[in-house]
Amino acid sequence: MQLISVHGLTYRFKDMARYRTILIFGAPGSGKGTQGKILGKIPGFYHCACGDVFRSLDPASELGGAFLEYSSKGQLVPDEMTVRLWHESIRKTEESGKFKPGRDYLILDGIPRNVAQCELMEELIEVRRVFHLSCPDRDKLVERLKKRALRDNRLDDANEEVIRSRLATYDSESKPMLHHYSTIKRHDIDASMTPLEVMYEILKGLLEETGASLPR
Ligand code: ADP
Repeated sequence: MQLISVHGLTYRFKDMARYRTILIFGAPGSGKGTQGKILGKIPGFYHCACGDVFRSLDPASELGGAFLEYSSKGQLVPDEMTVRLWHESIRKTEESGKFKPGRDYLILDGIPRNVAQCELMEELIEVRRVFHLSCPDRDKLVERLKKRALRDNRLDDANEEVIRSRLATYDSESKPMLHHYSTIKRHDIDASMTPLEVMYEILKGLLEETGASLPR
């Protein structure tokens, strides 16, 4: 294993490498999770949804309680707490061997979610591509989220007021990330298309990223 010295400290190269990351970015209801889950089944890709990490917490724990408090109002959980939780969770999947950074691309959905989180994660992730699932039709997103509330029993989708507040949080806090990553290759995809059509667009970008060519 390669050793690197920085300011008199020696690190193993493994500890220094950033995760090769693909960001699935878009408003709540734009289909990030649908796409991310499918992509995560492909060998060589590992999907991590920050919302799932939060939902796996015990609601009686301090962090679990904070999650319920913020998400039920359509707000983001504070940044440092979020990034720390995400980092611990991804390290565990690494230790268990489910995610192998030398082998797998990390597909991130729901994190980073604002510019401060991008900055906190700068040394941890190397963003290779951003897939932006774009849906200017807010009513369409609201309809999708209401259906999801019934299907998944999610508190944060339960009423229209919370949904609208989440969409407003996306506009004010998440969208500026597109500017932050302006030098990174971005694919703007119409999220109102069918899941299959969206998947096709993502796959084209991923084939390009991995240096493969489209089958004829
Ligand atoms: P959606 O797919 O509707 O955007 P998520 O499952 O990704 O929903 O997230 C649900 C809630 O969890 C968010 O509204 C927010 O309160 C919290 N959350 C998820 N990811 C983050 C994050 N990166 N930073 C802060 N809060 C987050």
